[in-house]
Amino acid sequence: MKAKAPVKAFVVKVGEGGVEEARKSLWSDLLKGLPAPKIANTVTLPRGDILVKPVDEGTFRALKRMEDEGKAVREESARRPMILMYDVGRDIEKDRLGKLLAEQNPDLGIGEETVVPLFMKGPKTGDSVWWVCAVAPDAYQKVVGKRVYLGMSCCRVEEFSDVVRCFKCQRFGHRTTKCPASSDTCGKCAEVGHQAKDCKSNASRCANCRKAAPSAHAECAAKLRATLNAARRTDFGRTSK
Ligand SMILES: [Zn+2]
Ligand SMILES: [Zn+2]
Ligand SMILES: [Zn+2]
Repeated sequence: MKAKAPVKAFVVKVGEGGVEEARKSLWSDLLKGLPAPKIANTVTLPRGDILVKPVDEGTFRALKRMEDEGKAVREESARRPMILMYDVGRDIEKDRLGKLLAEQNPDLGIGEETVVPLFMKGPKTGDSVWWVCAVAPDAYQKVVGKRVYLGMSCCRVEEFSDVVRCFKCQRFGHRTTKCPASSDTCGKCAEVGHQAKDCKSNASRCANCRKAAPSAHAECAAKLRATLNAARRTDFGRTSK
């Protein structure tokens, strides 16, 4: 599978005028250099800034020029790495996570704005949850493999990988709803034409690396490859092989 080029995007900082004001001034700045800017879409980020995706080269260059001119625009071409924080108090609200991480762990030197909480995982009940956050590459370097203080717990931080496996064809990199395959591949024996729940085979085989294990096995070489491919498109603040 060929790795897709990263989607080019720009982050526009929102000032005191708010999102509407920032969108208006972005558009008028774009029109100065370009008769018809082409934008795929804009997304308001959790921290209030706007993510803008240009469609064509002309619009990309216009945004790049604004960045060079010192406007509140910067390119965000790489995906942000993600971290998983274990055993975070359930009572800690999403918007306080970045602030607490920065304040309670001053020795790490992380800015609260470099942490974007994405979603919760882990136990459905109990006092603690796991948090998946996107972080800036330099913050990633500072926290992965460490323990951080958050509220009244000391939480382990690990890299979070979002490589998905399709339950229809068993391949990595797309979800079942986007699967191009016309028939099922069994997740247990890797034969085409039936699902694992209807499997009559006694033997297991991984559809991806062909090892004698179900396709979900943890130490799959194909999964590792897919993870590394995704990592290559992510800026971890270091060169990843
Ligand atoms: Zn598939
Ligand atoms: Zn089967
Ligand atoms: Zn495998």
